[in-house]
Amino acid sequence: MTYDFDLFVIGAGSGGVRAARFAAGFGAKVAVAESRYLGGTCVNVGCVPKKLLVYGSHFADDFEQAEGFGWTAGKAQFDWEKLISNKNREIERLNGIYRKLLINSGVTLLEGHARLTDAHHVEINGQRFSAERILIATGGWPQIPDIPGREHAITSNEAFFLEQLPKRVLVVGGGYIAVEFAGIFNGLGADTSLLYRGDLFLRGFDKSVRTHLVQELTKRGLQLEFNTDIVQIDKQSDGSLLATLNDGRQLETDSIFYATGRRPMLDNLGLENTRVELNEKGYIDVNDNFETREPSILALGDVIGRVQLTPVATAEGMAVARRLFKPEEYRPVDYRHIPTAVFSQPNIGTVGLTEEQALENGHNVTVFESRFKPMKLTLTDSSEQTLMKLVVDAVTDRVLGAHMVGPDAGDIIQGLAIALKAGATKRLFDETIGVHPTSAEEFVTLRTPVLGR
Ligand code: FAD
Ligand code: NDP
Repeated sequence: MTYDFDLFVIGAGSGGVRAARFAAGFGAKVAVAESRYLGGTCVNVGCVPKKLLVYGSHFADDFEQAEGFGWTAGKAQFDWEKLISNKNREIERLNGIYRKLLINSGVTLLEGHARLTDAHHVEINGQRFSAERILIATGGWPQIPDIPGREHAITSNEAFFLEQLPKRVLVVGGGYIAVEFAGIFNGLGADTSLLYRGDLFLRGFDKSVRTHLVQELTKRGLQLEFNTDIVQIDKQSDGSLLATLNDGRQLETDSIFYATGRRPMLDNLGLENTRVELNEKGYIDVNDNFETREPSILALGDVIGRVQLTPVATAEGMAVARRLFKPEEYRPVDYRHIPTAVFSQPNIGTVGLTEEQALENGHNVTVFESRFKPMKLTLTDSSEQTLMKLVVDAVTDRVLGAHMVGPDAGDIIQGLAIALKAGATKRLFDETIGVHPTSAEEFVTLRTPVLGR
Protein backbone atom coordinates (compact mmCIF):
# COMPACT_ATOMS: atom_id res chain seq x y z
CA MET A 1 0.00 0.00 0.00
CA THR A 2 1.25 3.48 -0.75
CA TYR A 3 0.74 6.38 1.60
CA ASP A 4 0.86 10.15 1.13
CA PHE A 5 3.63 10.32 3.74
CA ASP A 6 6.10 7.98 5.46
CA LEU A 7 5.69 9.97 8.67
CA PHE A 8 2.94 12.41 9.69
CA VAL A 9 3.89 14.41 12.79
CA ILE A 10 1.14 16.11 14.81
CA GLY A 11 2.62 19.10 16.65
CA ALA A 12 5.51 21.36 15.62
CA GLY A 13 6.95 21.74 19.11
CA SER A 14 10.34 20.70 20.46
CA GLY A 15 9.91 16.96 19.88
CA GLY A 16 7.81 17.06 16.71
CA VAL A 17 10.09 19.45 14.84
CA ARG A 18 13.20 17.47 15.74
CA ALA A 19 11.65 14.18 14.63
CA ALA A 20 10.25 15.69 11.40
CA ARG A 21 13.47 17.43 10.36
CA PHE A 22 15.70 14.46 11.04
CA ALA A 23 13.31 11.99 9.40
CA ALA A 24 13.18 14.19 6.28
CA GLY A 25 16.96 14.50 6.38
CA PHE A 26 17.19 10.69 6.34
CA GLY A 27 15.11 10.64 3.15
CA ALA A 28 11.60 10.06 4.52
CA LYS A 29 8.55 11.86 3.12
CA VAL A 30 7.33 13.86 6.10
CA ALA A 31 4.43 16.17 6.98
CA VAL A 32 4.03 18.15 10.18
CA ALA A 33 0.74 19.66 11.38
CA GLU A 34 0.67 22.63 13.75
CA SER A 35 -2.51 24.23 15.08
CA ARG A 36 -1.16 27.12 17.13
CA TYR A 37 2.46 28.24 16.94
CA LEU A 38 5.65 26.96 15.32
CA GLY A 39 8.22 25.86 17.89
CA GLY A 40 5.54 24.78 20.37
CA THR A 41 5.41 25.55 24.06
CA CYS A 42 9.11 26.12 24.64
CA VAL A 43 9.49 28.80 22.00
CA ASN A 44 6.14 30.54 22.44
CA VAL A 45 4.95 30.19 26.04
CA GLY A 46 7.74 28.32 27.79
CA CYS A 47 11.52 28.21 28.09
CA VAL A 48 12.38 31.09 25.77
CA PRO A 49 9.99 33.90 26.79
CA LYS A 50 10.31 32.75 30.42
CA LYS A 51 14.08 33.16 30.36
CA LEU A 52 13.74 36.58 28.72
CA LEU A 53 11.42 37.65 31.55
CA VAL A 54 13.85 36.25 34.14
CA TYR A 55 16.67 38.31 32.59
CA GLY A 56 14.35 41.32 32.54
CA SER A 57 13.46 41.05 36.20
CA HIS A 58 17.05 40.50 37.35
CA PHE A 59 18.05 43.99 36.23
CA ALA A 60 16.49 45.36 39.41
CA ASP A 61 19.29 43.62 41.35
CA ASP A 62 21.95 44.54 38.80
CA PHE A 63 21.21 48.26 39.15
CA GLU A 64 21.42 48.04 42.93
CA GLN A 65 24.62 46.01 42.90
CA ALA A 66 26.31 48.32 40.40
CA GLU A 67 26.46 50.99 43.10
CA GLY A 68 28.98 48.91 45.06
CA PHE A 69 31.25 49.08 42.00
CA GLY A 70 31.10 52.85 41.86
CA TRP A 71 28.21 53.37 39.50
CA THR A 72 25.50 55.91 40.13
CA ALA A 73 22.49 55.44 37.90
CA GLY A 74 19.35 57.52 37.81
CA LYS A 75 16.16 56.16 39.29
CA ALA A 76 15.46 52.95 37.41
CA GLN A 77 12.06 52.73 35.71
CA PHE A 78 10.46 49.67 34.26
CA ASP A 79 8.11 49.42 31.27
CA TRP A 80 6.25 46.07 31.13
CA GLU A 81 4.64 46.84 27.76
CA LYS A 82 8.05 47.37 26.20
CA LEU A 83 9.44 44.14 27.63
CA ILE A 84 6.44 42.16 26.33
CA SER A 85 6.49 43.74 22.89
CA ASN A 86 10.26 43.17 22.52
CA LYS A 87 9.76 39.59 23.71
CA ASN A 88 6.94 39.11 21.16
CA ARG A 89 9.17 40.39 18.37
CA GLU A 90 11.88 37.91 19.31
CA ILE A 91 9.39 35.02 19.42
CA GLU A 92 8.08 35.99 15.96
CA ARG A 93 11.66 35.89 14.70
CA LEU A 94 12.06 32.39 16.15
CA ASN A 95 8.72 31.28 14.61
CA GLY A 96 10.13 32.34 11.24
CA ILE A 97 13.33 30.37 11.84
CA TYR A 98 11.30 27.25 12.67
CA ARG A 99 9.25 27.69 9.50
CA LYS A 100 12.43 27.91 7.41
CA LEU A 101 14.05 24.96 9.19
CA LEU A 102 11.08 22.75 8.40
CA ILE A 103 10.61 23.86 4.83
CA ASN A 104 14.33 23.79 4.01
CA SER A 105 14.58 20.25 5.27
CA GLY A 106 11.82 19.19 2.87
CA VAL A 107 9.01 18.76 5.40
CA THR A 108 5.44 19.56 4.24
CA LEU A 109 4.05 22.04 6.77
CA LEU A 110 0.28 21.96 7.30
CA GLU A 111 -1.14 24.66 9.55
CA GLY A 112 -4.35 23.68 11.32
CA HIS A 113 -5.77 21.30 13.87
CA ALA A 114 -5.01 17.66 13.06
CA ARG A 115 -7.31 14.82 14.01
CA LEU A 116 -6.77 11.09 13.68
CA THR A 117 -9.51 9.32 11.75
CA ASP A 118 -7.93 5.86 11.95
CA ALA A 119 -4.56 4.20 12.42
CA HIS A 120 -3.17 5.60 9.16
CA HIS A 121 -5.20 8.75 8.43
CA VAL A 122 -5.19 12.33 9.66
CA GLU A 123 -7.72 15.02 8.87
CA ILE A 124 -6.66 18.67 8.78
CA ASN A 125 -8.42 21.73 7.31
CA GLY A 126 -11.00 19.42 5.68
CA GLN A 127 -8.32 17.39 3.90
CA ARG A 128 -7.44 13.77 4.66
CA PHE A 129 -3.90 12.43 4.44
CA SER A 130 -2.58 8.91 4.76
CA ALA A 131 0.69 8.01 6.44
CA GLU A 132 2.56 4.82 7.12
CA ARG A 133 3.36 6.13 10.58
CA ILE A 134 1.86 8.92 12.65
CA LEU A 135 3.75 10.62 15.48
CA ILE A 136 1.77 12.38 18.21
CA ALA A 137 3.84 15.24 19.67
CA THR A 138 1.03 17.48 20.89
CA GLY A 139 2.61 18.54 24.18
CA GLY A 140 0.74 19.70 27.26
CA TRP A 141 -1.53 22.39 28.64
CA PRO A 142 -1.72 24.10 32.06
CA GLN A 143 -4.33 22.84 34.46
CA ILE A 144 -6.06 24.73 37.26
CA PRO A 145 -7.76 22.76 40.07
CA ASP A 146 -11.53 22.74 40.00
CA ILE A 147 -12.33 25.39 42.63
CA PRO A 148 -15.10 28.02 42.59
CA GLY A 149 -13.84 31.12 40.76
CA ARG A 150 -11.04 29.34 38.85
CA GLU A 151 -12.06 31.31 35.74
CA HIS A 152 -10.57 34.44 37.37
CA ALA A 153 -7.11 32.84 37.59
CA ILE A 154 -4.42 32.89 34.92
CA THR A 155 -1.68 30.45 33.93
CA SER A 156 1.71 30.84 32.26
CA ASN A 157 -0.09 30.94 28.88
CA GLU A 158 -1.76 34.25 29.75
CA ALA A 159 1.03 35.69 31.91
CA PHE A 160 3.26 36.11 28.85
CA PHE A 161 0.70 38.46 27.30
CA LEU A 162 -0.61 40.49 30.26
CA GLU A 163 -1.27 44.08 29.29
CA GLN A 164 -0.01 45.36 32.61
CA LEU A 165 2.22 44.05 35.35
CA PRO A 166 -0.14 43.38 38.28
CA LYS A 167 0.72 45.26 41.48
CA ARG A 168 -0.10 42.25 43.68
CA VAL A 169 0.17 38.60 42.61
CA LEU A 170 -0.59 35.28 44.29
CA VAL A 171 1.31 32.43 42.68
CA VAL A 172 -0.11 28.97 43.39
CA GLY A 173 2.05 25.82 43.09
CA GLY A 174 5.47 24.67 44.15
CA GLY A 175 7.07 23.38 40.95
CA TYR A 176 9.33 24.87 38.29
CA ILE A 177 6.83 27.34 36.85
CA ALA A 178 5.55 28.66 40.20
CA VAL A 179 9.06 29.32 41.50
CA GLU A 180 10.28 30.89 38.26
CA PHE A 181 7.28 33.19 37.81
CA ALA A 182 7.18 34.18 41.48
CA GLY A 183 10.77 35.36 40.96
CA ILE A 184 9.84 37.24 37.79
CA PHE A 185 6.90 39.09 39.37
CA ASN A 186 8.84 39.81 42.56
CA GLY A 187 11.91 41.03 40.68
CA LEU A 188 9.78 43.37 38.57
CA GLY A 189 8.34 44.93 41.70
CA ALA A 190 4.97 43.23 42.17
CA ASP A 191 4.00 42.38 45.74
CA THR A 192 4.24 38.61 45.31
CA SER A 193 3.26 35.63 47.47
CA LEU A 194 3.82 32.00 46.56
CA LEU A 195 1.29 29.58 48.05
CA TYR A 196 2.19 25.90 48.10
CA ARG A 197 -0.02 23.11 49.45
CA GLY A 198 2.81 21.04 51.01
CA ASP A 199 5.46 21.58 53.70
CA LEU A 200 8.24 22.62 51.33
CA PHE A 201 8.18 23.43 47.62
CA LEU A 202 10.14 21.78 44.76
CA ARG A 203 9.32 18.22 45.73
CA GLY A 204 11.88 15.85 44.25
CA PHE A 205 14.79 18.30 44.44
CA ASP A 206 17.57 17.88 47.03
CA LYS A 207 16.43 18.99 50.50
CA SER A 208 19.43 21.32 50.97
CA VAL A 209 18.55 23.01 47.67
CA ARG A 210 14.91 23.45 48.68
CA THR A 211 15.67 24.92 52.10
CA HIS A 212 18.46 27.12 50.74
CA LEU A 213 16.12 28.55 48.11
CA VAL A 214 13.51 29.30 50.81
CA GLN A 215 16.10 31.47 52.58
CA GLU A 216 17.24 33.23 49.42
CA LEU A 217 13.75 33.97 48.13
CA THR A 218 12.70 35.24 51.56
CA LYS A 219 15.70 37.61 51.59
CA ARG A 220 14.38 39.04 48.34
CA GLY A 221 11.03 39.85 49.88
CA LEU A 222 9.07 37.05 48.25
CA GLN A 223 6.39 35.85 50.65
CA LEU A 224 6.33 32.07 50.88
CA GLU A 225 3.28 30.41 52.40
CA PHE A 226 3.53 26.63 52.71
CA ASN A 227 0.71 24.25 53.72
CA THR A 228 -1.57 26.82 52.09
CA ASP A 229 -4.04 26.46 49.24
CA ILE A 230 -6.82 28.55 47.75
CA VAL A 231 -10.32 27.10 48.10
CA GLN A 232 -12.30 29.88 46.40
CA ILE A 233 -11.71 32.98 44.27
CA ASP A 234 -14.15 35.91 44.12
CA LYS A 235 -13.98 38.91 41.84
CA GLN A 236 -14.70 42.15 43.69
CA SER A 237 -16.53 45.18 42.32
CA ASP A 238 -13.26 47.15 41.90
CA GLY A 239 -11.82 44.36 39.74
CA SER A 240 -9.50 42.99 42.43
CA LEU A 241 -9.63 39.32 43.45
CA LEU A 242 -10.33 37.84 46.86
CA ALA A 243 -8.74 34.46 47.55
CA THR A 244 -10.17 32.39 50.39
CA LEU A 245 -7.54 30.04 51.81
CA ASN A 246 -7.86 26.57 53.33
CA ASP A 247 -7.24 28.03 56.81
CA GLY A 248 -10.10 30.50 56.36
CA ARG A 249 -7.94 33.59 55.77
CA GLN A 250 -8.74 35.87 52.84
CA LEU A 251 -6.14 37.58 50.68
CA GLU A 252 -6.87 40.45 48.30
CA THR A 253 -4.83 40.57 45.13
CA ASP A 254 -4.82 41.76 41.50
CA SER A 255 -3.84 38.49 39.85
CA ILE A 256 -3.84 34.81 40.76
CA PHE A 257 -1.36 32.77 38.77
CA TYR A 258 -1.73 28.98 38.83
CA ALA A 259 1.22 26.70 38.10
CA THR A 260 -0.20 23.44 39.35
CA GLY A 261 1.07 21.12 36.64
CA ARG A 262 0.18 20.38 33.04
CA ARG A 263 -2.09 17.83 31.37
CA PRO A 264 -1.41 16.09 28.05
CA MET A 265 -2.90 17.94 25.06
CA LEU A 266 -5.34 15.39 23.59
CA ASP A 267 -8.25 17.73 22.78
CA ASN A 268 -10.21 16.59 19.73
CA LEU A 269 -7.26 14.47 18.61
CA GLY A 270 -9.45 11.53 17.56
CA LEU A 271 -7.71 8.94 19.74
CA GLU A 272 -11.07 7.15 20.00
CA ASN A 273 -10.67 6.22 16.32
CA THR A 274 -7.51 4.27 17.12
CA ARG A 275 -6.26 1.68 19.58
CA VAL A 276 -4.00 4.22 21.33
CA GLU A 277 -4.32 3.86 25.12
CA LEU A 278 -3.60 6.19 28.02
CA ASN A 279 -1.66 5.23 31.15
CA GLU A 280 -3.01 5.58 34.69
CA LYS A 281 -1.93 9.25 34.80
CA GLY A 282 -3.78 10.06 31.57
CA TYR A 283 -0.71 10.37 29.30
CA ILE A 284 -0.32 8.39 26.08
CA ASP A 285 1.05 4.98 26.92
CA VAL A 286 4.16 4.07 24.90
CA ASN A 287 6.85 1.40 25.05
CA ASP A 288 10.63 1.97 24.95
CA ASN A 289 10.40 2.63 21.20
CA PHE A 290 7.71 5.33 21.71
CA GLU A 291 5.15 3.01 20.09
CA THR A 292 1.53 3.17 21.29
CA ARG A 293 -0.78 0.15 21.36
CA GLU A 294 -1.61 1.06 17.74
CA PRO A 295 1.44 -0.22 15.83
CA SER A 296 1.48 2.61 13.26
CA ILE A 297 1.15 5.41 15.85
CA LEU A 298 4.00 6.71 18.02
CA ALA A 299 4.09 9.46 20.65
CA LEU A 300 6.77 11.45 22.46
CA GLY A 301 7.48 14.57 24.51
CA ASP A 302 5.18 16.07 27.14
CA VAL A 303 2.18 14.10 25.86
CA ILE A 304 3.76 10.86 27.16
CA GLY A 305 4.47 12.51 30.54
CA ARG A 306 7.93 11.08 31.22
CA VAL A 307 10.27 14.05 31.69
CA GLN A 308 8.70 17.32 30.60
CA LEU A 309 11.79 19.14 29.37
CA THR A 310 12.65 20.42 25.90
CA PRO A 311 16.01 18.63 25.54
CA VAL A 312 14.28 15.37 26.50
CA ALA A 313 11.55 15.88 23.87
CA THR A 314 14.20 16.63 21.22
CA ALA A 315 16.26 13.58 22.25
CA GLU A 316 13.11 11.45 21.92
CA GLY A 317 12.38 13.00 18.50
CA MET A 318 15.88 12.20 17.31
CA ALA A 319 15.64 8.61 18.61
CA VAL A 320 12.34 8.06 16.76
CA ALA A 321 13.65 9.50 13.49
CA ARG A 322 16.82 7.42 13.66
CA ARG A 323 15.13 4.16 14.64
CA LEU A 324 12.61 4.46 11.80
CA PHE A 325 14.74 5.89 9.03
CA LYS A 326 18.43 5.47 9.94
CA PRO A 327 18.53 2.44 12.25
CA GLU A 328 22.30 2.09 11.97
CA GLU A 329 22.64 5.37 13.91
CA TYR A 330 19.94 4.59 16.48
CA ARG A 331 20.72 5.04 20.17
CA PRO A 332 18.01 4.79 22.83
CA VAL A 333 17.31 7.84 25.00
CA ASP A 334 19.24 7.67 28.27
CA TYR A 335 16.99 9.05 31.01
CA ARG A 336 19.73 8.88 33.65
CA HIS A 337 21.73 11.98 34.55
CA ILE A 338 19.34 14.47 32.95
CA PRO A 339 20.61 17.88 34.10
CA THR A 340 18.02 20.51 34.79
CA ALA A 341 17.78 24.10 35.95
CA VAL A 342 15.08 26.07 37.67
CA PHE A 343 15.45 29.69 36.62
CA SER A 344 14.54 30.97 40.02
CA GLN A 345 16.54 33.91 41.32
CA PRO A 346 19.09 32.61 42.22
CA ASN A 347 19.05 29.66 39.78
CA ILE A 348 19.00 26.00 40.72
CA GLY A 349 21.17 23.63 38.71
CA THR A 350 21.03 19.92 39.42
CA VAL A 351 22.07 16.57 38.00
CA GLY A 352 21.99 13.02 39.32
CA LEU A 353 20.68 11.76 42.64
CA THR A 354 19.60 13.91 45.54
CA GLU A 355 20.97 12.94 48.94
CA GLU A 356 17.55 11.52 49.82
CA GLN A 357 17.34 9.42 46.63
CA ALA A 358 20.90 8.13 47.10
CA LEU A 359 20.07 6.95 50.63
CA GLU A 360 16.77 5.41 49.47
CA ASN A 361 18.65 3.54 46.74
CA GLY A 362 20.88 1.96 49.40
CA HIS A 363 24.04 3.95 48.79
CA ASN A 364 26.44 4.66 51.60
CA VAL A 365 26.60 8.40 51.13
CA THR A 366 29.24 11.04 51.79
CA VAL A 367 28.07 14.61 51.32
CA PHE A 368 30.17 17.68 50.52
CA GLU A 369 28.55 21.08 50.85
CA SER A 370 29.69 24.66 50.61
CA ARG A 371 27.87 27.94 51.15
CA PHE A 372 29.55 31.20 50.27
CA LYS A 373 28.96 34.75 49.09
CA PRO A 374 29.69 34.93 45.35
CA MET A 375 32.63 37.21 44.55
CA LYS A 376 30.48 39.47 42.39
CA LEU A 377 28.45 40.38 45.45
CA THR A 378 31.36 41.13 47.80
CA LEU A 379 31.29 44.86 47.06
CA THR A 380 27.52 45.05 47.42
CA ASP A 381 25.03 45.01 50.27
CA SER A 382 23.57 41.72 49.03
CA SER A 383 23.58 38.88 51.54
CA GLU A 384 22.88 36.24 48.87
CA GLN A 385 24.64 32.93 49.47
CA THR A 386 25.49 30.30 46.89
CA LEU A 387 25.07 26.60 47.73
CA MET A 388 27.07 23.81 46.13
CA LYS A 389 26.67 20.17 47.05
CA LEU A 390 28.07 16.84 45.93
CA VAL A 391 26.52 13.52 46.87
CA VAL A 392 29.17 10.78 46.70
CA ASP A 393 29.00 7.00 47.05
CA ALA A 394 31.30 6.32 50.02
CA VAL A 395 32.18 2.84 48.74
CA THR A 396 32.91 3.45 45.05
CA ASP A 397 33.80 7.17 45.37
CA ARG A 398 31.51 7.84 42.40
CA VAL A 399 29.78 11.23 42.36
CA LEU A 400 26.07 10.42 42.36
CA GLY A 401 24.65 13.94 42.33
CA ALA A 402 25.67 17.58 41.95
CA HIS A 403 23.42 20.40 43.11
CA MET A 404 23.78 24.16 43.11
CA VAL A 405 21.78 27.24 44.00
CA GLY A 406 23.44 30.39 42.76
CA PRO A 407 24.03 32.67 39.77
CA ASP A 408 24.37 30.75 36.49
CA ALA A 409 23.80 27.38 38.20
CA GLY A 410 22.03 26.16 35.05
CA ASP A 411 25.08 26.90 32.91
CA ILE A 412 27.54 25.46 35.43
CA ILE A 413 25.68 22.16 35.88
CA GLN A 414 25.83 21.28 32.15
CA GLY A 415 29.55 20.41 32.29
CA LEU A 416 29.12 18.45 35.51
CA ALA A 417 26.41 16.38 33.81
CA ILE A 418 29.02 15.08 31.37
CA ALA A 419 31.33 14.19 34.27
CA LEU A 420 28.57 12.31 36.09
CA LYS A 421 27.49 10.52 32.92
CA ALA A 422 31.11 9.47 32.41
CA GLY A 423 31.09 8.00 35.95
CA ALA A 424 33.51 10.49 37.50
CA THR A 425 34.72 9.77 41.03
CA LYS A 426 35.16 12.39 43.73
CA ARG A 427 38.91 11.82 43.40
CA LEU A 428 38.68 12.85 39.75
CA PHE A 429 36.84 16.00 40.78
CA ASP A 430 39.63 16.69 43.34
CA GLU A 431 42.33 16.17 40.71
CA THR A 432 40.66 18.57 38.29
CA ILE A 433 42.18 22.03 38.35
CA GLY A 434 39.77 24.85 39.02
CA VAL A 435 39.13 27.94 36.93
CA HIS A 436 39.97 30.86 39.18
CA PRO A 437 38.28 33.03 40.32
CA THR A 438 34.87 31.53 39.58
CA SER A 439 32.05 30.03 41.60
CA ALA A 440 32.24 26.85 39.53
CA GLU A 441 35.73 26.03 40.85
CA GLU A 442 34.15 25.29 44.23
CA PHE A 443 32.93 21.99 42.76
CA VAL A 444 36.56 20.79 42.50
CA THR A 445 37.71 22.14 45.87
CA LEU A 446 35.13 20.58 48.19
CA ARG A 447 37.44 18.74 50.59
CA THR A 448 35.70 18.11 53.92
CA PRO A 449 32.57 15.98 54.10
CA VAL A 450 29.59 17.31 56.00
CA LEU A 451 29.44 15.44 59.30
CA GLY A 452 26.51 14.14 61.32
CA ARG A 453 24.16 13.00 58.58
P1 FAD B 1 5.17 21.23 22.72
O1 FAD B 1 6.41 22.01 22.64
O2 FAD B 1 4.13 21.65 23.68
O3 FAD B 1 4.56 21.19 21.24
C1 FAD B 1 3.31 20.64 20.96
C2 FAD B 1 2.75 21.34 19.74
O4 FAD B 1 1.63 20.58 19.25
C3 FAD B 1 2.20 22.73 20.06
O5 FAD B 1 2.80 23.67 19.18
C4 FAD B 1 0.71 22.61 19.83
O6 FAD B 1 0.11 23.80 19.34
C5 FAD B 1 0.64 21.48 18.80
N1 FAD B 1 -0.63 20.75 18.79
C6 FAD B 1 -1.32 20.25 19.84
N2 FAD B 1 -2.39 19.58 19.41
C7 FAD B 1 -2.41 19.67 18.05
C8 FAD B 1 -3.27 19.17 17.04
N3 FAD B 1 -4.30 18.38 17.34
N4 FAD B 1 -2.99 19.47 15.75
C9 FAD B 1 -1.90 20.25 15.41
N5 FAD B 1 -1.03 20.71 16.35
C10 FAD B 1 -1.29 20.43 17.65
N6 FAD B 1 11.69 23.01 29.43
C11 FAD B 1 13.02 23.17 29.53
O7 FAD B 1 13.78 22.25 29.18
N7 FAD B 1 13.57 24.34 30.00
C12 FAD B 1 12.80 25.37 30.40
O8 FAD B 1 13.33 26.41 30.81
C13 FAD B 1 11.40 25.24 30.32
N8 FAD B 1 10.60 26.25 30.68
C14 FAD B 1 9.24 26.12 30.56
C15 FAD B 1 8.45 27.18 30.97
C16 FAD B 1 7.07 27.07 30.89
C17 FAD B 1 6.22 28.23 31.32
C18 FAD B 1 6.49 25.88 30.36
C19 FAD B 1 5.00 25.77 30.22
C20 FAD B 1 7.27 24.83 29.96
C21 FAD B 1 8.66 24.93 30.07
N9 FAD B 1 9.51 23.88 29.70
C22 FAD B 1 10.86 24.01 29.82
C23 FAD B 1 8.96 22.60 29.20
C24 FAD B 1 9.02 22.52 27.67
O9 FAD B 1 8.41 23.66 27.11
C25 FAD B 1 8.31 21.26 27.20
O10 FAD B 1 8.85 20.13 27.86
C26 FAD B 1 8.46 21.06 25.69
O11 FAD B 1 7.95 22.16 24.97
C27 FAD B 1 7.74 19.79 25.24
O12 FAD B 1 7.84 19.64 23.85
P2 FAD B 1 6.75 18.81 23.03
O13 FAD B 1 7.28 18.70 21.65
O14 FAD B 1 6.40 17.57 23.74
O15 FAD B 1 5.44 19.70 23.05
P1 NDP C 1 5.22 20.76 38.26
O1 NDP C 1 4.69 19.41 38.09
O2 NDP C 1 6.68 20.99 38.26
O3 NDP C 1 4.66 21.37 39.64
C1 NDP C 1 3.31 21.40 39.91
C2 NDP C 1 3.14 21.98 41.30
O4 NDP C 1 1.77 22.21 41.55
C3 NDP C 1 3.64 21.07 42.40
O5 NDP C 1 4.23 21.84 43.40
C4 NDP C 1 2.36 20.41 42.89
O6 NDP C 1 2.41 20.06 44.24
C5 NDP C 1 1.38 21.53 42.71
N1 NDP C 1 0.00 21.06 42.51
C6 NDP C 1 -0.41 20.10 41.66
N2 NDP C 1 -1.76 19.95 41.73
C7 NDP C 1 -2.18 20.84 42.64
C8 NDP C 1 -3.46 21.16 43.15
N3 NDP C 1 -4.56 20.53 42.73
N4 NDP C 1 -3.55 22.13 44.09
C9 NDP C 1 -2.44 22.77 44.54
N5 NDP C 1 -1.20 22.49 44.07
C10 NDP C 1 -1.07 21.55 43.15
O7 NDP C 1 4.46 21.62 37.17
P2 NDP C 1 4.69 23.05 36.56
O8 NDP C 1 3.33 23.48 36.17
O9 NDP C 1 5.50 23.92 37.46
O10 NDP C 1 5.57 22.75 35.26
C11 NDP C 1 5.27 21.67 34.38
C12 NDP C 1 6.53 21.02 33.89
O11 NDP C 1 7.14 21.85 32.89
C13 NDP C 1 7.62 20.85 34.94
O12 NDP C 1 7.45 19.69 35.71
C14 NDP C 1 8.88 20.79 34.11
O13 NDP C 1 9.10 19.47 33.68
C15 NDP C 1 8.55 21.69 32.94
N6 NDP C 1 9.21 23.00 33.15
C16 NDP C 1 10.57 23.06 33.14
C17 NDP C 1 11.22 24.23 33.39
C18 NDP C 1 12.72 24.27 33.38
O14 NDP C 1 13.33 23.37 32.87
N7 NDP C 1 13.33 25.32 33.93
C19 NDP C 1 10.49 25.45 33.66
C20 NDP C 1 9.06 25.29 33.65
C21 NDP C 1 8.46 24.10 33.41
P3 NDP C 1 3.01 18.65 44.77
O15 NDP C 1 4.48 18.74 44.65
O16 NDP C 1 2.54 18.63 46.18
O17 NDP C 1 2.40 17.59 43.93
